[in-house]
Amino acid sequence: MPDTDLTHKRLLVVDDNPVNLELLGDLLEDHGYTDLTCLDDARQVLGHCRTRLPDLILLDIRMPHLDGYAVLEQLQDAFGEQAPATIVLTAQVDDATRRRALAAGVRDFLTKPFDHEEAMQRIRNVLRVEQRLAERREQAAELEGLAEARTRELERLSMTDPLTGLPNRRALLQRLEAWREAGHEAGALFIVLDDLPDIMRLHGHDVAERLLQRLADALTPMLPEAAMLGLWGGNDLLVILPAPANPDALEALAGHLLARLGRPQPVDERRLTSRARIGIGRARDSAPQRLVHMAALALPDAQATPPIRCHTPSLEARQRERLELQHDLRGAAGRGELRLAYQPKLWLAERHPLGAEVLLRWRHPRHGDVSPGRFIPLAEATIDILEIGDWVLETAMQRLVAWRTDGRVAEDFSLAVNVAARQLCTPDFAATLLRRLAQHGLPPHSLSIEVTESGLMADLNEARRQLQALAAAGIAIAVDDFGTGHSSLAYLKTLPLSVLKIDRAFVTDLQGDPAARQLACTITRLAHGLGFEVVAEGIETLEQAQRLREMGCGIGQGYLFARPLLEADFLAWYDAQRIDQPA
Ligand code: C2E
Ligand code: MG
Ligand code: MG
Repeated sequence: MPDTDLTHKRLLVVDDNPVNLELLGDLLEDHGYTDLTCLDDARQVLGHCRTRLPDLILLDIRMPHLDGYAVLEQLQDAFGEQAPATIVLTAQVDDATRRRALAAGVRDFLTKPFDHEEAMQRIRNVLRVEQRLAERREQAAELEGLAEARTRELERLSMTDPLTGLPNRRALLQRLEAWREAGHEAGALFIVLDDLPDIMRLHGHDVAERLLQRLADALTPMLPEAAMLGLWGGNDLLVILPAPANPDALEALAGHLLARLGRPQPVDERRLTSRARIGIGRARDSAPQRLVHMAALALPDAQATPPIRCHTPSLEARQRERLELQHDLRGAAGRGELRLAYQPKLWLAERHPLGAEVLLRWRHPRHGDVSPGRFIPLAEATIDILEIGDWVLETAMQRLVAWRTDGRVAEDFSLAVNVAARQLCTPDFAATLLRRLAQHGLPPHSLSIEVTESGLMADLNEARRQLQALAAAGIAIAVDDFGTGHSSLAYLKTLPLSVLKIDRAFVTDLQGDPAARQLACTITRLAHGLGFEVVAEGIETLEQAQRLREMGCGIGQGYLFARPLLEADFLAWYDAQRIDQPA
């Protein structure tokens, strides 16, 4: 009976006795086996197997030139695990022979002279087992292939941002690391999209993500071949590239990218743009994270033009100091590091004090006194200024209440508090201030505020709303540092202001420069014409005070009269003035 499912198997019969070979060959053919090879020289086995590996070898043990064991060894050496299954043909049945053959990996034995039926059955058995093994091996290989593909896919996914499909932080760092290992100098452009959070709030996250994709698509063709553009964080794109030899090339590239970013992108039916800033870093041996950090540190401020900056060691030192100071300032009020100083304001004609400007002081636990010219802009760059500004207002009011209660200041004495743009543009700023004033039982004329021109321009409409509410309640509002901004009296006219503080720079120039004198004169006249009170700040000499008076400037403050003083000193100074001028 033919063994239909196995008859296509490749069989190799090896026996030095041609009679045996023929006998076995005929028997196998009778059972339907079609792929048969018979060799009577054991030395040809290896070569044959190399060209075509049989599924089963029927191998004589006793042969001249090369015995069966040697053949098994050869096959084991050449094919290892893949060596074909073997059934040994032997007349010897002693245990030692069997053991040796089994140890050599032989599957079964056919003892000569063999019973035909039994021989065929044994051959079938071995072929079936081999077939099953082969199937298993195939399945295992298939599974392995699938697992490998899945691993590759996971690897790819772990390198891409799931929402935008852009290379993610990991991918960027890995590429940088590869460049570093290869000894290449790398460049990094850290791109911040400033308006993305607003776009997210206004149009939704999906729109912002599509905008990011669009922008990435637009920028990619502008980059050199080896560059990679990816997503570093929420609003931050990162371009990395092998650094060009020309040191200006990265800046030039940043300029091109920025110009492209400035063009509106169609997203759905909208056309969206976001302002962008770019920090540039380049490094050969630095860790990838460090290079990215360098580029991020180099990011210019939002107002900078052009908003591109390259990293330098001194810039990094300054930035670090700035960030540290910014960090240390947080919570300074709660830790008792903030104090108020008071600089008297006087009627220039009588030299009589009418009030004081409240000036903030910060004693840093390690650096000592830090000038407000340094730390106020740092606080203004974040929302920290709101907490600080709040503390200043509250403390000033508390002190004023105490002074008034104790009769230390006159009834018409007033404190002027500096207010930052961010404070002024808070929708409940005026309401909160007025409520506080009422809670402290202070009359509106006892407090005034000073705002800078740039503070007014930050959000003119909101500033106007807040100022109108304050002015309506009787709070005087001064424009501080007048003449240093780009503003004009024309637009100031549209705001409910009552005081104009001429910047110290004009006052300083009064002595020498006739043109400056003329300008100060003109400003004062125009300001009076518009109904403003004019205050001069930074008066240091008698001559300056004299000239300002002649110009019609009624009020002044400056080192000539008093420096900003802490509470006890200020009150002592104020008392002394009253004694001097009892009237
Ligand atoms: P500002 O409001 O224009 O304050 C005037 C500055 O000029 C003060 O500096 C004051 O000490 C200084 N000054 C006064 N008289 C003279 C003088 O005769 N000669 C010279 N050379 N300087 C004089 P300060 O205290 O360092 O404050 C600097 C700036 O910091 C202030 O300018 C103000 O813009 C800001 N600032 C201070 N305190 C606060 C605050 O509580 N809140 C806010 N938002 N800003 C504040
Ligand atoms: Mg001021
Ligand atoms: Mg000023």
